[in-house]
Amino acid sequence: MLTGAACLFCKRRSRDTVRPYICRSCLSRLPFRRQSNRVSFQSLALTLPDHVNREVICPFYYTGAIRENLLIMKFGGSWHPARALGPLMAEAVLRRGICADIIVPVPLHKKRLQSRGFNQAERLAAMLGRTMSRPVRADLLVRTLETPPQSEAPDLAGRFRQVLSAFELSGEADGTGTVLLVDDVLTTGATLYAAARVLAALNRPVQAVVCASNQGKPVIPDR
Ligand SMILES: [Zn+2]
Repeated sequence: MLTGAACLFCKRRSRDTVRPYICRSCLSRLPFRRQSNRVSFQSLALTLPDHVNREVICPFYYTGAIRENLLIMKFGGSWHPARALGPLMAEAVLRRGICADIIVPVPLHKKRLQSRGFNQAERLAAMLGRTMSRPVRADLLVRTLETPPQSEAPDLAGRFRQVLSAFELSGEADGTGTVLLVDDVLTTGATLYAAARVLAALNRPVQAVVCASNQGKPVIPDR
């Protein structure tokens, strides 16, 4: 298939493009997680209602080309990587047999949105929506509290306290189908957990998906 667009990862135009914006060779080298190595809210899930799935869909480890491209989105001022990563996330969702009704990105606080120019989770959600032909509702959740970047949080408990009351529902959503909550990276899981807990008030199934996480990543010894 010749898409006319260069591979996002090696920057070459290839006739061997098997997915949007990624060539077969680069696809084969991405750090896919093993199906058996599941990501979840783990111990954070104590107060989640049953209609929120504790398991988070996550196709990649946060390393290599995936990490580089997520960092480009977060700090490099370009949302272009979402065009390759969004469809790969959609594939992971569809493989689990999840049929989302609406897609909701984890919002940024408006101050951070202003300084960054766009919300990386929203761009990924837009590409998921396009791939799955489902509507994106970026208005449904708002971030009312500005929390410090994850890297500055002291520990899991501290991070959890900071982020737990950061989100509010800001609209209605008709229907009873699954709400697909989208973020870029799961580190401690606290942000996603806090957002999922708020979405649970809609009384419909909530399923979270992130692009990457190192939760449960096997330790590979240095050679
Ligand atoms: Zn390539």
